[in-house]
Amino acid sequence: SYVLLNNQITERKNVKIDIEDRGYNFGDGIYEVMPIYNKQVFTMEEHLQRFEECAAKLEIKMPFDKATIANLLNELKTKNEITEGIVYIQMTRGVSPRAHLYERNVEGLITAFSRQMVFPKEQQQKGIRVYVTEDIRWLRCDIKTINLLGNTMVKREATDNDCKEAVMHRNGTVTEGSSSNLFIVKNGTIHTHPATNLILNGITRQTVIKLAEQNGYNIVEEAFSLEQLKNADEAFITSTTQEITPIIQAIGEINGTYSIGKLTKMLQNEFTQYVKKCINN
Ligand code: PLP
Repeated sequence: SYVLLNNQITERKNVKIDIEDRGYNFGDGIYEVMPIYNKQVFTMEEHLQRFEECAAKLEIKMPFDKATIANLLNELKTKNEITEGIVYIQMTRGVSPRAHLYERNVEGLITAFSRQMVFPKEQQQKGIRVYVTEDIRWLRCDIKTINLLGNTMVKREATDNDCKEAVMHRNGTVTEGSSSNLFIVKNGTIHTHPATNLILNGITRQTVIKLAEQNGYNIVEEAFSLEQLKNADEAFITSTTQEITPIIQAIGEINGTYSIGKLTKMLQNEFTQYVKKCINN
């Protein structure tokens, strides 16, 4: 398969990363995962906008502008003949002798790949179980960094407990999933954690908020508790790869059961329509 190294599309076997790349030594880098529907990258601009913002937060210089990167990613997925799936891009702070102190605004090292993937439709119809556990991550969860140990450890824990996703809380305040945002519905009102330093402001999250508002539902972006999660009528997660996936049961620190209700189904339907509208068929 073909991959991207900076602005070169080349075969994967040609790419070698230095052992003193700061991404490898420190997890010093950022990434994005974008969905491909019908051979087209959906919400590419939003993802590249967040990529640029995260680069700025970490003081890594983008070697090319967003339009150049967009063209390269489009070329990559076309060369790999992806019809449905994802394109993954990451940028590290590049190679320098291993030391904690970083130089500001050094040009990042970009790699990207694309792969075919089937979106998990069955989970979206039947719902999933989630494992509720403590959020052990750092305090800059707004940065989409490749440092993901706090996320991968709770994902392992969730899977060991026969759950598809982990839902995290800090001192009883529900934050998000290991690789998704979380929404609950109570008495017809939709709630989700505000876009602060404690969560990643998901592109799917933002799309869902927009679609809900267009349908006359105001989403309450305020912190909510484990108790509120436990007592919710509906609950669902959102992410690029999982789209909108209902939660039918929560176990772990709380126990809850949820119906795949009217609002979850409405938003799933709106999301599908919105993708169709944005992607030329
Ligand atoms: N929150 C975390 C921690 C994530 O890793 C992700 C995506 O991987 C999301 C939320 C959802 O973000 P998006 O909708 O942009 O995929």
